[in-house]
Amino acid sequence: MAKITIDNLRHAYISEPTRDEHYALKRVHLDWADGGAYALLGPSGCGKTTLLNLISGLLHPSEGRILFDGKDVTMETPEARNIAQVFQFPVIYDTMTVYDNLAFPLRNRGVDEAEIKKRVSAIAEMLELTATLSHRASGLTADGKQKISLGRGLVRDDVNVIMFDEPLTVIDPHLKWQLRSKLKELQQRIKRTMIYVTHDQTEALTFAEQVVVMNNGEVVQTGTPIELFERPMHTFVGHFIGSPGMNLLPCEVKGGAAFVSGKQVPAANAKKAKSGRKLELGVRPEFVRFANKGLPADVVRVSDIGRYRVVETRVNGTPVKLVVGEDTEVPVGKAHLVFDATHTQIYSDGWLVGSRP
Ligand code: ATP
Repeated sequence: MAKITIDNLRHAYISEPTRDEHYALKRVHLDWADGGAYALLGPSGCGKTTLLNLISGLLHPSEGRILFDGKDVTMETPEARNIAQVFQFPVIYDTMTVYDNLAFPLRNRGVDEAEIKKRVSAIAEMLELTATLSHRASGLTADGKQKISLGRGLVRDDVNVIMFDEPLTVIDPHLKWQLRSKLKELQQRIKRTMIYVTHDQTEALTFAEQVVVMNNGEVVQTGTPIELFERPMHTFVGHFIGSPGMNLLPCEVKGGAAFVSGKQVPAANAKKAKSGRKLELGVRPEFVRFANKGLPADVVRVSDIGRYRVVETRVNGTPVKLVVGEDTEVPVGKAHLVFDATHTQIYSDGWLVGSRP
């Protein structure tokens, strides 16, 4: 296993890039610890696959370096990097048995049969494939085949990193959560460096200790699931993570205090905000509540989500959502909103005020 350093990496698919927008990956700098569980999360086209292909060696960057345990591997082939990859669609040999499929990466490297048996049995056990080991892979369902793919990624113990590229796309929705928790359990048990690429926040947040959120060829924040929830560094993270996402209201700052529609509202970082830029107040629906006094709002819709309700309001035309308990009394028509001061932050041109030097 290896510590991975992504050192000022840039990548453009065109030959002579001159402007930032020519780069699919604008500039990425990351340090990933040996044995850590990481997720690359972002919408389609944000550069996740490009970054993954640069790490695996399928692509060479326009600029920057990739280091495994301090050794520069930027120009090395995928084979030399010693990486295991699990793709979106299962890559297996249909005519072989499940056992032989799992044994394949080990036989390829000349591991002796007794050791192979030990490792294949352990992986099959973890993935609940033991009963099917002697079956032909062709007879399995799409879920079963993807489990073999996962097993082949996990069976070697000499790889530098295991990378998963949207591995649960073909999995039946009701089995997804099961495999998701299985993978997390496996990662904790075998402690390999793993990188999991997905556009699905639930998958990223369940699997990873650290989630790298990407947008538009850039890393906008790296953090634990709690950090991303409680302190989004960028409005994109606030909006992309959470269900529903963070509320954003246009605001002004005067004398170190924040104002929304002319009314003062508490914000943890108001003193650091400077006027003259696009300022927005960000607060998650979980940190807004109804009160007798506060910001005037109109209640427009209430949706029952099961254990809680989502209430949609408008503050001077701006949508503001609240997540409230089943027993909360929701006003009809006119209401007043109060924001939790420690979880209300000001964003300047999209970035959390005070978070950048
Ligand atoms: P998805 O989840 O849809 O796979 P992604 O986050 O993995 O998206 P990338 O596939 O890395 O994003 O694409 C990043 C940008 O680079 C996009 O604008 C895409 O159109 C562009 N791009 C990707 N591959 C190529 C290529 N081979 N040639 C030219 N442009 C490319």
